[in-house]
Amino acid sequence: MAEDCIFCKIAAGEIPADVVYEDDHILAFRDINPQAPVHIVIIPKTHFQSIMSVPAGDPVIGRIHQAANRIALREGIADTGFRLVNNCGEDGGQTVPHLHYHLLGGRYMEWPPG
Ligand code: 5GP
Ligand code: ZN
Repeated sequence: MAEDCIFCKIAAGEIPADVVYEDDHILAFRDINPQAPVHIVIIPKTHFQSIMSVPAGDPVIGRIHQAANRIALREGIADTGFRLVNNCGEDGGQTVPHLHYHLLGGRYMEWPPG
């Protein structure tokens, strides 16, 4: 657990969150500031600062994508479609330095993003 990391604190149950999925490695919860009817943040329970901190061959990214697949089915957006987004670093718009993906759906997602 990284000190003062808000997502580590959510993973540890120290900060409440509206959890929609959990397994041994992954936690997913509704974004506090949703940008779509379905907006879920998917995190590994282990702290990585960003996708750039993930060692080659680490299973964490596959686990996140599998969780996204299951959550999309549960949330009823698997058929209509969704967007799975990772913001990395300052120019990528990452504001929380704990690796996470956004699962967004329930409306048409514009392209290109801003
Ligand atoms: P980023 O901008 O780093 O890609 O995404 C961070 C996301 O985490 C933002 O969409 C923000 O609304 C969400 N977020 C930040 N703090 C909290 C929190 O304490 N609880 C929840 N549920 N979401 C949070
Ligand atoms: Zn963390």
